[in-house]
Amino acid sequence: MAQPQEPTFRQSVDLMFNRAVGLMDLSPGLEEKIRVCNSTYTVRFGVRLRGAIHTFTGYRSVHSEHMEPVKGGIRYATSVNQDEVEALAALMTYKCALVEAPFGGSKGGLCIDPREYQEHELELITRRFAYELIKRDLINPSQNVPAPDMGSGEREMAWIADQYARMHTTDINARACVTGKPLNAGGIAGRVEATGRGVQYALREFFRHKEDVAAANLEGKLDGKRVVVQGLGNVGYHAAHFLSAEDGAKVTGIIERDGGLWNDDGLDVEEVFQWIRANGGVTGCPAGRFVPEGAKLLEAECDILIPAAMEGVINLTNAANIKAPLIIEAANGPVTAGADEVLRQKGCVIIPDMYANAGGVTVSYFEWVKNLSHIRFGRMQRRQEEGRHQILIDELERLSSDKELGWTLSPGFKEKYLRGADELELVRSGLDDTMRIAYQSMREVWHSRQDVTDLRVAAYLVAIGKVAASYRAKGI
Ligand code: GLU
Repeated sequence: MAQPQEPTFRQSVDLMFNRAVGLMDLSPGLEEKIRVCNSTYTVRFGVRLRGAIHTFTGYRSVHSEHMEPVKGGIRYATSVNQDEVEALAALMTYKCALVEAPFGGSKGGLCIDPREYQEHELELITRRFAYELIKRDLINPSQNVPAPDMGSGEREMAWIADQYARMHTTDINARACVTGKPLNAGGIAGRVEATGRGVQYALREFFRHKEDVAAANLEGKLDGKRVVVQGLGNVGYHAAHFLSAEDGAKVTGIIERDGGLWNDDGLDVEEVFQWIRANGGVTGCPAGRFVPEGAKLLEAECDILIPAAMEGVINLTNAANIKAPLIIEAANGPVTAGADEVLRQKGCVIIPDMYANAGGVTVSYFEWVKNLSHIRFGRMQRRQEEGRHQILIDELERLSSDKELGWTLSPGFKEKYLRGADELELVRSGLDDTMRIAYQSMREVWHSRQDVTDLRVAAYLVAIGKVAASYRAKGI
């Protein structure tokens, strides 16, 4: 956790924002208007559980309504507080602007340790929290659309969607009131993996640019790179899994609450993930060497460090010891403003959170569009696409039956080419495109401006520029 001499999470986000706006020429007052959080609603509500009334505290913070609906997850954790929710809401504003998801920024939180409750209790609590937010229009398909965050997932989103539908029985767009729902409750294929997948696409795009790879003192491709991941939750697991299974990266370190695991030859991500599911932590997992003080592994030799858990884990106490030349912020705010400064001076390249973990909200955007259009992606065109491909295959087969030409089709080509894209493929393609374009917009600023020396400031410049443009268009 961040040390007392460091600013709070929200102040840290504001400091990073200020560093960027200092390089911009915004009209007077606009800078403050963009930075401040528009509103934060605190709800305290009671739920009867185990024979007594239990009081819970929850928040929904709206950072910017320059576009509506506003978007952002709901976190379930005992550490949730107003400062944190506001910092996270601000990051949502910048994140959505950067990846061109047409939303303002919002975030919610419920002070609860979900592991202390049974499923039916969590349902009662979630429905009651949702009720409090829905009746104030803090959940609404056209105004404010939550999603999962740390401690919440598909199950909670399904309860929220159902609660909204019960309270708006004639709203045909009710399902669009929340994203990250299970597939059978209006969700979209690929949403669960989306944030981790986005981290993979971000790294792939980074490694496509030799100059950028060299700026991090690295060379070559992702293949063989040593990766340390902190937090094997939904985001960390998917990032680690895809990077090792599809890109040849070697996950040498995994850090969890109870300690860390290390293996020079690369850990079997699946084995560690299954072990954590069964045992609640990495202790005793035979996949690697157990390191009781897990956080020490943040300082281990590696090529890529992926903090995928909490904010503030890389702070003034450990920044100087970090050896990774490249950090990709899969979590929100894992590097404090002070640590950011130390790391920049050491020459470490940081791929910032607002870009690196934007895969989740990007696919949430696709889900919201799917809900509003009431049709699954690919339903209209898939077979038509296959039909058109069939014409080409027929022609190629006719030509390859001509002995004189001596042509043959490569094995598997026909099947691969014929198949029209399903929803998952379309979602992945839309996500990949989004991550590539957003990276290019950041790197353009990074490399073209003398006064921009890091990707975080570049990301803020692009994002704030977009938010400012929408304010200007509104005449504010
Ligand atoms: N909670 C995720 C985030 O921090 C997802 C937000 C969303 O999908 O709206 O980006």
